[in-house]
Formats: sequence, C-alpha cells, structure tokens
Amino acid sequence: MARLFNCQPSEIIFTSGGTESDNLALRGAAWTAKANGRGAHLITTPVEHSAVGKTVDQLACVMGFEATILPVDASGMVDVEDFAAAIRADTTVASIMYANNEVGTINPLPALAAQARERGVLFHTDAVQAAGQLTLDVSALGVDMLSISAHKFYGPKGVGALYVRAGIELVPSQSGGSHEEGRRAGTSNTAGIVGMAAALEIAYAERETRIAHYRAMRDALIDGILVRVPGAYLTGHAEQRLPSHASFVFEGVEANRLLMHLDIKGIAASSASACKTGNPEPSGVLLVMGYTPELASSGLRLSVGKDTTADDVAYAVDVIAESVAKLQRVP
Ligand code: PLP
Repeated sequence: MARLFNCQPSEIIFTSGGTESDNLALRGAAWTAKANGRGAHLITTPVEHSAVGKTVDQLACVMGFEATILPVDASGMVDVEDFAAAIRADTTVASIMYANNEVGTINPLPALAAQARERGVLFHTDAVQAAGQLTLDVSALGVDMLSISAHKFYGPKGVGALYVRAGIELVPSQSGGSHEEGRRAGTSNTAGIVGMAAALEIAYAERETRIAHYRAMRDALIDGILVRVPGAYLTGHAEQRLPSHASFVFEGVEANRLLMHLDIKGIAASSASACKTGNPEPSGVLLVMGYTPELASSGLRLSVGKDTTADDVAYAVDVIAESVAKLQRVP
C-alpha cells in the first residue's frame, strides 16, 4: 500500500473503514492544533460524506471550533480561489473530498492542496470513492492526510486506512493500547488489512483495463438514459467524474419511489436523497449545487463495476425508462 501511496509504511494507519479514517484525521489534527495554540478554524465543503460533515459539525458545535463551509459550483466542484480566500491566519485543517459519492465529481486536489501547504494548513482528503480508480500518489496530490475504505475497490468490508504524512501529530480518537504507534488503539484486523492490500494491488495492476471498461459501460448508461428518458439530466461534472459513476435527476419523479421499482427488477441503485420516516427529503448535495427541491428529490446514482456487461446496461436503461415513464404519469 505504501508503494501505491508513494509514502513510508509508517505513514499508514489501519482503521475500520472510511468513517473512522475521516474521524481520526479531522478530530486528531484539529485537537492537536488547538492544544498547541495553532488556531481553531477549519475549512470543508457542503458536499462531504457525513463522516466528514458530521465530524466538522461536532467540532464546531460542541468543541469550540469554527468552520467555513465553501460553496461548490453547479457540478459540485470546489473552486481553488474560493478555497484560497477562505484560509485565515488561524486556519489549521481543511478537508475536501477527492471525488463525490453522490455526483461523482472530482476536485482539483493538487491545486487545492498546494494552497493549503503554502499557507501552513493541514490538508485532508476523503479518497474513499476515488481509491481503485484515481491516483493515490500522496506526493503528486500534495495532501497531508488521505482516507480510504477497502470495500470500494473489491476489498473486504470493515477495514480502511488513513495516510498521515510523517511528522503530523494526531490526538487519537480511540484511546487504549499503543497499536499503530499510539495513533489508533485496538488489535488490528489483520485478515482484513491483508485483504485490503491485496485488493488495492490488484485494482492498480488492472487499473487501465478496469477504467476503460468502466468508462465504456458508464458512457453507454449515460447516453442510453439521456436519449431514452424525457426529463432526465446528468448531475455532476461531464468530464471530471469518476469513471464508474453515473448520476441523474428526473423531472416529476420521486427518487425513493423509483428505487422501489428498480429494486423489484433486480437493479441496485441509490437515491441521492435520504428517506426519513416516509418523508423524502431533497438531497443536500443537489440543493447546494443549485437544483430545485423537486429535482433534488429525484436524484438517482448508479455505478458500474468490473463485471458489468453491455447487456446489464441495456437492461438497466430499459427498466429505468419504463419506471420513470410510469412515475411521471402517476404523480
Ligand atoms: N466517505 C465517502 C465518500 C464514502 O462514500 C463512504 C462510504 O460510502 C465513506 C466515507 C464511509 O466509509 P465506510 O463505510 O468504510 O466507513
């Protein structure tokens, strides 16, 4: 893993997954900075996974930190100049995701991280969605901390890692024994870690073939849906997006109802919005990207994998076209 990250083995901490890696990076670095009197200002984005979003909320609401939440553009991307302008003398940690889980948009990490480095701000990125597809070379990316989770690249569930550049001190989130050089207490999940390392090695050894396949399948899915489904729009960036990721909004459709139709037909997809006690809420990510609440309640995300076939894609397009037409007729 260190070879792929282009780092030292001692710079990798094994965790239980992306959530723990994000929590450890943010809380650990923020607490250390505050304890050393380096300031208590954090910067993040409104489109982060809740593992980052809720950790920043907690640091701000309960632990006396102040957070700036950057705007994003209509594709969900962060602007480098907005980030540079948000950095203050007391800014200590910034966390900006590599690629978004709802709309697949990839952020310009090297440029963002360079701004942070120039101004002495620690830069963390949630690379959970990017791992297996985009480069994880931390030196090329210029990041100080980077989170991954094994199950996103065909590794086992319940294991992940956090890269932490040598010299960065983290107050551990979890106290106890001196495992992981005192940075993460608790007996390591050895079998999971070995599985994760093997999966990562295979993912990058086969990366070119896998990415070409993902792109072909994803583009067929996007083209099929945009051509066959009236009122369908692609969400996220048209080019700067994860090779495996397709996401849409559909006029006149409530995504959670669409999901039920798809589930019955054997298609595993995910709505961008959360369904709470029967009251569908619009996706917060789509709302900050400028979608109306109606469209933000219709977000659907689909991803293709290494075993997805052209027949799978054709079937998914047929089922989505039929289901959307039915739901648009019966509001
Ligand atoms: N960050 C992102 C962007 C994710 O997509 C996910 C999971 O889907 C996580 C963090 C959380 O990872 P885990 O489920 O391994 O805790």
